[in-house]
Amino acid sequence: GGVLSIVATPIGNLDDLSERARQVLASADLVAAEDTRHSGRLLQHLGISRPMMALHDHNERGRVERVLEVLGQGQKVALISDAGTPLISDPGYVVVREARAAGYRVTPIPGPCALIAGLSAAGLPTDRFLFAGFLPAKRSGRQAALEQLRKEPATLVFYESPHRISDLMQDMVEVFGAGRECVLGRELTKTFETFYSGSAETVLGELQADPHGAKGEFVVMVRGADASPEDAGSSVDTDKLLELLIAELP
Ligand code: SAM
Repeated sequence: GGVLSIVATPIGNLDDLSERARQVLASADLVAAEDTRHSGRLLQHLGISRPMMALHDHNERGRVERVLEVLGQGQKVALISDAGTPLISDPGYVVVREARAAGYRVTPIPGPCALIAGLSAAGLPTDRFLFAGFLPAKRSGRQAALEQLRKEPATLVFYESPHRISDLMQDMVEVFGAGRECVLGRELTKTFETFYSGSAETVLGELQADPHGAKGEFVVMVRGADASPEDAGSSVDTDKLLELLIAELP
């Protein structure tokens, strides 16, 4: 029967495409891509020419019918996104879900993923982490989302676009406190790969001082909250509460 392969592609360095990914793409009957022009260039670079179809967030539901049809003919479909692993802050959720529901084999061809690449080299705890993807674009929504994560003990991971990275770090200072440890991975696997690390305040300063600071793509990683009073912030003060309750006792 038909097989849907979820193929990870490079996040910068083209040599990161695996041999298996190359083989699966070369033998696919249909390559479903987030952006056929962008992915067309990758396939061309690999010397591969296969029929392509656009499948992005705005047309995914409609295109799923077509993918299921092709799978129904016993053919092989490969899903790729512009960079990294499909479905990780990228399209593909609907097609994977529907293909599974229809009983087709869905198989991952693992490879580059910015969040895993960032975490693997950041030097922050990785035993537990919470990937929160892109935060809301508006400051109020972003601060509210951060507020909900303020006491989370797991390492936090975010994606952010270059033109909002300073705003995000500013909100981080405001909501998590100036001292919270952050590590930013910029342009991972590319020529200008850079890591910024230190307190939220230090990292914000470094970004603002670096002429390349506001350029490129970022993975933002934040140490989880510990039991320090700074992270506990304005949360309920249990000592104070107990004191008040005890005062009420007869
Ligand atoms: N599916 C991709 C993956 O597996 O990482 C993520 C796609 S998402 C639309 C794009 C975001 O991923 C960027 O805004 C950035 O936060 C992050 N990203 C992608 N490539 C990166 C790189 N080379 N260095 C740092 N961050 C990257």
